[in-house]
This record gives sequence, C-alpha cells and structure tokens, in this order.
Amino acid sequence: MLGRPFPLVIAAPSGAGKTSLARALVERRRDVVFSISATTRPRRDYEVDGKDYFFVDDAGFDRMIETGELLEWATVHGRRYGTPRESVTRGLDQGLVVVLDIDVQGARQVREQFPDAVLVFILPPSASELERRLAKRGSEAREEVERRLAGARRELPLAAGFDYVVVNDDFERAVGALEAVVTAERHRRSRMVDLEHELMRLDTELGRILDRRD
Ligand code: 5GP
Repeated sequence: MLGRPFPLVIAAPSGAGKTSLARALVERRRDVVFSISATTRPRRDYEVDGKDYFFVDDAGFDRMIETGELLEWATVHGRRYGTPRESVTRGLDQGLVVVLDIDVQGARQVREQFPDAVLVFILPPSASELERRLAKRGSEAREEVERRLAGARRELPLAAGFDYVVVNDDFERAVGALEAVVTAERHRRSRMVDLEHELMRLDTELGRILDRRD
C-alpha cells in the first residue's frame, strides 16, 4: 500500500549537482517523473529542447505567465525559469511522484500551492568543490561562476525551511538518500487514502479467524 504521490522539490545552490541527482532518481524509480521547466536562458550544447527544458523567448514566457500556465516562476541569474502546471498535475494524476529541479524561490511557491510537497535541499560537500564543479562546466565565464557562488551564499540559510537535507559528497550515496526520502514519504500515514478501508478489511478478516477459534 503506497500513499498519494506528491511534488518532490529538489533545490540547491547552482553546481551542487541537483540536476544529475534528480535525473538519476527518475531513472531508478518507476514511480517518479521529472517536471520539465520552461526557461528563457539559451540552450547549452548538451541540452535537448523539450527534454531538459522548454526553451522559450521572452514573449513566449510572458504568454505563459498571462495564461496562468505556470505553477511558479522566478528570475535566476538574470533569466526566467518556470514550472508548467501541466508538468506537475499530469504526473500526480498518473499516481507518480513529480520531481521539480528548481531554485529556492520556486520551492517556496510550490509549497504554498501544494502543502503536501516534500522539499529537499542539496548541499555541496564544500565551497571549493562547488567552485570546481561550476568552473568545470566550461559553459560559463569566470564572472558567471562568481555570480553563482555569491548566489549560493545567499541561498544557504534558506535550507532551514526545507524538510530534508542531502549532502552531495558521494553521488551514489546522495541518490540513495533521495530514494529513501521517496520511499519514506510514500509510506506516510497521512498520504494513505485507503488506510481506513484496509484496516476494516484486516479487522473483518481477524474477526473471522478469531470466531473460528471460539
Ligand atoms: P540552470 O540554468 O543551471 O539550468 O538553472 C539555474 C537555476 O534555475 C537552478 O537553480 C535551477 O534549479 C533553477 N530552475 C530550473 N527550472 C526552474 C523552474 O521551473 N522554476 C524555478 N523557480 N527555478 C528553476
């Protein structure tokens, strides 16, 4: 018996490795899907439109806001990012946990709309490792790396508002921790819609067994 699915928000300072973690989680669990965001940021070489993001121009993004298509949106590093409502509700309707790889501002907005959302904050093992990972990406200039490091510093205190914290020191262990969070949350009693029914069924069965003994 598994409980109702929920949005699983994974937030972290840029470069902590949350996108890789989120993708690995989705690959390992059949009951987890990825929510694809829309963004006005230019596509990186290795990214695929419609898979990593929906890449849209400013006018397209404005339209999505106006039509109420976005569940939440935020400006991050000077570009706009948003979660299409459809990306989340479709998965939940199919009984799937929906992973949102978004920034901390978005995480707060999701919790407002889905109070039962689960918020996980990913931490890098150290500041120098965060810098190394950002620089290694190669797609960003030094100035951008520094902008992101300053952003990380501002965001760290916000971990306090999250439900879980996972340090991405060892990738396998971090994915394992995320899987454990999903498993535990799917067993949360308050998410079990059929619990009363199931308890009644067991009670009837127990009654039958005990009656036979009399
Ligand atoms: P990147 O440009 O490195 O892919 O993402 C930059 C930041 O934007 C990351 O923290 C990422 O999680 C966040 N982000 C991606 N999609 C969304 C979204 O739909 N909403 C919000 N609020 N942030 C997002």
